[in-house]
Amino acid sequence: MKFYIETYGCQMNVSDSELVSGILLNAGWEQAFAIDDADLILFNTCSVRQHAEDRVLGRIANEKHRKMQNPELKIAVLGCMAQRVGKRLLEKDFGVDFVVGVDQYLQLPELLSQERGMETEFDHFQIYPGLKPVHGDQSCAFVTIMRGCDNFCSYCIVPHVRGRERSVDFEQIVEEVAKCGDNGMKDVTLLGQNVNSYRWGDYNFPRLLLELNKIDSIYRLRFVTSHPKDLSDGLVQAMADCDKVCEHIHLPLQSGSNPVLKAMNRKYTIEHYFGLVEKLRAAIPNISLTTDLIAGFPGETHADFELTLDAMREIRFDYAFCFKYSEREGTAACSFENQVPETERLSRLQEMIDLQREITLEKFSAQVGNEIEVYVESLSKKSVHQVSGKTRDYKIAVLDGDESDIGTLKKARVKSATAGTLIC
Ligand code: SF4
Repeated sequence: MKFYIETYGCQMNVSDSELVSGILLNAGWEQAFAIDDADLILFNTCSVRQHAEDRVLGRIANEKHRKMQNPELKIAVLGCMAQRVGKRLLEKDFGVDFVVGVDQYLQLPELLSQERGMETEFDHFQIYPGLKPVHGDQSCAFVTIMRGCDNFCSYCIVPHVRGRERSVDFEQIVEEVAKCGDNGMKDVTLLGQNVNSYRWGDYNFPRLLLELNKIDSIYRLRFVTSHPKDLSDGLVQAMADCDKVCEHIHLPLQSGSNPVLKAMNRKYTIEHYFGLVEKLRAAIPNISLTTDLIAGFPGETHADFELTLDAMREIRFDYAFCFKYSEREGTAACSFENQVPETERLSRLQEMIDLQREITLEKFSAQVGNEIEVYVESLSKKSVHQVSGKTRDYKIAVLDGDESDIGTLKKARVKSATAGTLIC
């Protein structure tokens, strides 16, 4: 019997899909690399925005017809949407046979021996100990070091669908990262909703970085996501001290206005955030900063929004993931009365995107003429004589090369730039 996984949402889900592949392979299933060959289609889903859920429902509706040709075919929904929507996915005529929440993947093989079923209980201690994720043949790896989140930002569904914060066994992480390096994945990203609060016995996150930095088989270490309220001086120092930790941090700001940050329950002020940027830039010259921003959060006035634009101009992020606020049922902000009209959210979002594109283009263009070091990840989509990869400061670069360069570090000089790619 063969399974095929389609993954939506963040890198956490990519990592969970690798975990699920490992569980199913151990149970005797085979992995199908084309959906046509599958006896079981798994959708690993995201609930962060309504749009993400709508996309998956559309995909399931599209694949349902396969059941007419193959009545034995089963469809399973995993991940955040399974957790959030639960039983309703089985009740309605969605064509879904199994619904499995984020802490119940170990139950999958047993569940699949039944006709239909659901497992969505939270297990607030589940860290999937000792399991071997299947990283495939990619050149970069994502290693989960934490699961869940305790922060309850008022707009965010994650604590409601991923449960409470828990850290993965320190030794398991070291073993996993070393194995990734041994298997040719030399660029490793550590994953967690809030990696800054990693804790395993005496090991906090800076100590974890210092230990992982000793692993010879990897070239580069990255991590996402950091919460500004938990970014310690110890972490800034560890980033500066560890030669494998890349000069990049993703530090979600969300808003430049203190009243909005308070309503978001972010637990820091814009002044605190500016202070962190100053410390990071002082300790790690040329560090690149990326962020997440929300336009049109409930109660955001035009003056609040202008403060976000001011912060963007002052900090000059290398890149920003900009979103309009999306109501998620079950979160605190969903019941706030002062919702910003959709048209206003959209126009603020566009203004944000335009400003960031300008800044990003300036940042990328400033690299023209510089020699950069690229970790080659794949062949370029446009030419077989070119390869694509990332710089240490998380910029995509395209350079001359071929398949044999994948998984290696290459030096190249930047000839030109767009607001997304360095061309060498
Ligand atoms: S820190 Fe806030 S935004 Fe990030 S996952 Fe947790 S609740 Fe969501």
